[in-house]
Amino acid sequence: SIDLRTYLVCFQTGKSFLRENGVAEHYSSRSNQTREEREASPIIHLKKLNNWIKTVLIHLYARRGDAVLDLGCGKGGDLIKWDKASISYYVGVDIAEGSIEDARNRYNGDTDHAQNRKVFSFPARLVCADCYEVPLDEALKDVPQFDVCSCQFTLHYSWSTEERARQALHNVTSMLLPGGMFIGTMPDANVIVRKLRDTDRMEFGNSVYRIDFDDKYSEKRFMGSPFGIQYHFHLEDAVDCPEWLVPFSKFVALAEEYGLELVMKQNFHEFVHQYIQKLEFGELMRKLGALGDGTEGNTISDDEWEGAYIYLVFANREGNLSL
Ligand code: SAM
Repeated sequence: SIDLRTYLVCFQTGKSFLRENGVAEHYSSRSNQTREEREASPIIHLKKLNNWIKTVLIHLYARRGDAVLDLGCGKGGDLIKWDKASISYYVGVDIAEGSIEDARNRYNGDTDHAQNRKVFSFPARLVCADCYEVPLDEALKDVPQFDVCSCQFTLHYSWSTEERARQALHNVTSMLLPGGMFIGTMPDANVIVRKLRDTDRMEFGNSVYRIDFDDKYSEKRFMGSPFGIQYHFHLEDAVDCPEWLVPFSKFVALAEEYGLELVMKQNFHEFVHQYIQKLEFGELMRKLGALGDGTEGNTISDDEWEGAYIYLVFANREGNLSL
């Protein structure tokens, strides 16, 4: 019989760029919220919208029985989505030990909400590692390849240097089966740069998010390298750490070098407008209450909706079908 309890494997890396910049510490220190705290969040509708988008993406590109690698899995917030997709196996990797611990507790049902205990239908393994530094094909030698690699709100942390961005894509492509899917969500650099151009300052935002570039931004941007263009991102009740721009055309070109072919890219707004029209996804949106019920205070705010515009959805296919 398969042991459905997860176990923790830690690949500590000596020095980590992200540790120095506080990304791992930031995510590790964010404690799990209770249902009441979540509902009281100033970005509750944006969080629900993000969950709807990830659910639709999974529905579009994962099939029953798939093996899934979740890079930057965080606290395991997508485990239920994968369970609904009837996958057969799951490996989650995250640099933040506290988040991996939370994901493990969630998977094992060791939460405060014993009445909501969920028994997952697939075996899982959770790994604490910097997945933009550790060669996962070497570290996880005993693990078979995957049908889907998911990278939700995480890939941009690899774009601090070319080396890290390449390691990220090497990990994706070496862990995927031929024809496997690489799906994810990340900040939309085109939107961010456009918004920056529209202000005469080095920052912009609203009541829910703020993006701050340092003075070296334009110098770096025009030095020719698409890597290491850093800004500070603050999302109320969620994120407060450095991030890196991922110029999308450069991402597509680099991914192609690793045999990953772009099959879909949409800004969140475009994605919502398209898929909300489909009956089942429209139903799910209503059920999640992501856009609210239209009553004042229970509808996604303009500021949250603008926050959603900062992101895009992508899907790439591993192209070595003939191997
Ligand atoms: N994917 C989850 C989700 O959608 O809810 C978590 C997203 S959270 C915004 C970003 C996650 O990426 C954090 O859990 C963070 O620890 C993780 N992360 C950042 N850099 C990483 C790295 N180099 N290796 C592994 N995980 C990383």
